[in-house]
Amino acid sequence: MPDILQPCLIESANTRLSIVQMEHSWANVLARHEYPLHVAEQLGQILASSILLRSRLKQDSSIILQIQGDGPIQTLVAQSNPENTLRGLAKWQQHSSFDTCSNLQDIYGNAKLVMTLVNPEHRYQGIIELTGQTLSDSLQQYFSQSEQLPSSLQLFANRDRVAGLLIQKMPDSVDDGLDNEDWNRINLLTQTVSADELLNLSAIDVIKRLYHQEDVRIYKQQNVYFNCSCSRQRIDTVLETMGRNSVFELLEEQDIITVDCEFCNQTYHYDQQQVEQLFVNHIVAEPDSIN
Ligand SMILES: [Zn+2]
Repeated sequence: MPDILQPCLIESANTRLSIVQMEHSWANVLARHEYPLHVAEQLGQILASSILLRSRLKQDSSIILQIQGDGPIQTLVAQSNPENTLRGLAKWQQHSSFDTCSNLQDIYGNAKLVMTLVNPEHRYQGIIELTGQTLSDSLQQYFSQSEQLPSSLQLFANRDRVAGLLIQKMPDSVDDGLDNEDWNRINLLTQTVSADELLNLSAIDVIKRLYHQEDVRIYKQQNVYFNCSCSRQRIDTVLETMGRNSVFELLEEQDIITVDCEFCNQTYHYDQQQVEQLFVNHIVAEPDSIN
């Protein structure tokens, strides 16, 4: 099954609909770390939501969803960039039992979800309370409150596939009695989708099955890819920001500085000569070198 984002408009209810389905890019994420099933399910769901939420933004926007907590899962990160590229990562307490986890509090403990939206013009950060049983509960509650746009989100993940479905009322259609009826009808139809349907049927078949009595405009499908945005240039910048003294101290301790990207397992090495080169090029930026 191809990795796709399918945008649509349910014209009969003035509601936006997006479906994401991933297999190959999900396999790429899972290949980097050996996640227990419960951790993988949460990671898959947050990755699907990052693609869906970015689909509502301008094309050049990126979105980062990050949960930090003190529960069995301590970190969950999903990043979706222009062209629908994504990467993600989870950290969890080894030997945690997820068997008794029945809601987000059990899984993440005392935790918050931070959503960061970035595009060339601005950067926005919002904090989402982790309430309810699932990530979709928290996200749809946040969007209903913060944007006053009724939203409904379905997220499913297993080891083979990830899928998500987002419906959101169009902004100009809120506060209209008739529209509320339309919304309720579409929302009820959307809630009936099963994990099996969304994970295993094609997006078009899901739409036909759920909304066969509605007028649905189907836009062009977009591809979704795994792609890590790390690069030697970015690591250079991190080291430069640390400052000359700290980096040379590190070099003395380790002989060769090794930086691992946890998203893709790429390793970057810096020996003495490379570190010197880094700071020779940026000597002007060093406050202690300016007389
Ligand atoms: Zn990377």
